[in-house]
Amino acid sequence: MPIRISRTWFGKKASGETENARRQSKDRSQLRVGIPKVLNIWSTHQFWVGFLRELGIASENIVFSSDTTEEQTREYGKGRGTVDCCHPVKCMSGHYGELIFGQKKKINILLSPMIHSLPSMLHGHVLDTVTCTRVMAGPENIKAGFLKERDLFAENGIVYASPFVSLGDRDMVTGQLYPALKNVFDLDQEETERAVDAGFTALDNVTARIRRRGREILTWCAQNQKPCVLILARPYHMDTGIGHDIEADVQACGYPILWLQYLPVDIDLMHWLFESDLSVGRIKSPFDISDVWTSSYSSNTNEIMWGAKYAARCPWITCVVRFSSYECGMDQPTYTATQKIVEATGTLYFKFGDLDSTKPGGGIKIRVETIAHYLGKYSQEIILRKASYLSPNCPLGKMPNRTTTNASVAEAAPRSRAV
Ligand code: SF4
Repeated sequence: MPIRISRTWFGKKASGETENARRQSKDRSQLRVGIPKVLNIWSTHQFWVGFLRELGIASENIVFSSDTTEEQTREYGKGRGTVDCCHPVKCMSGHYGELIFGQKKKINILLSPMIHSLPSMLHGHVLDTVTCTRVMAGPENIKAGFLKERDLFAENGIVYASPFVSLGDRDMVTGQLYPALKNVFDLDQEETERAVDAGFTALDNVTARIRRRGREILTWCAQNQKPCVLILARPYHMDTGIGHDIEADVQACGYPILWLQYLPVDIDLMHWLFESDLSVGRIKSPFDISDVWTSSYSSNTNEIMWGAKYAARCPWITCVVRFSSYECGMDQPTYTATQKIVEATGTLYFKFGDLDSTKPGGGIKIRVETIAHYLGKYSQEIILRKASYLSPNCPLGKMPNRTTTNASVAEAAPRSRAV
């Protein structure tokens, strides 16, 4: 059944209408737009907020679904799955259902973009930055569950919009969003262009801000010779129903957390960490992963490989915690590679694989205690050893005391544990 597309949100433009009047006729301040907070919305949501706000949608009318929960899936998504899939995609039905049926104030538009490619710090250094095919096709897959008996979007007065968009190729985005959304929002080409610019500005600003915070954390660790933990995962593992908030439990043990997506990428730091690889020509830039991953098409997978290299080199990242979801075909080939890269410098590596809807609270508690135990026992030795591989000119300001010999540090190197 075709999705109903509104052509009448806004009054028709009268002939001779001034630009000002035309803008007023496009008052979108009362429109409510729902966005399922799933998959790569987690790393691009600020683009959509900036885009919609520039179009005149009020902030309070941009509605994201809640974090994933079992109740959400049970109440709103049950029986709407269409194909067997990985856990993060399966959960999408609950998010759609919550936006359609669970809002006190109804939404007018459900916006669920088919994100084909992503902005990435590795852009230009890898073959491509495309999303997992399940991420890209997820909206089509899940939409079908709400159309199979009857059109539940239309029945609830909701316009469903699912633009195909290559956020990794900025020049293409206006050309993709304008035709896909012009009838939904009564857009013209110029305002689409302005909204796309505003979207990227918002996304870039928030990414830069969080990365600055990441650098502050690393600087604090360097100044105080304290360890921190890197979470090696996909952006949507930040969803407490997908990643189960495990990093919060680790942080509660007193260890600052860095997420792969927001590692600081300042050029001084990058060149310091990758100096020896660059000097022997193993890589062309600090963002080059061709030495460990030649099939570098998938954006999040590329970043996971790069994050493993970063963690292996950075002295104060003494531990990597890897998350992966149930039935994730994209992560499978990376498990051994990332573990070997991280452990090559004696950095601790722990993995929580096959995460699904169940949060095994007791099991997670024991594993977190294990991680904290090893962090407490070995971090200082790991910091010393990894610092000894790097130049003393640390851009974070302070290197550990090197009186301990490399040999004695190497002897003390722990073996990492899979928990
Ligand atoms: S990367 Fe894995 S978890 Fe994510 S959508 Fe693809 S298959 Fe699913």
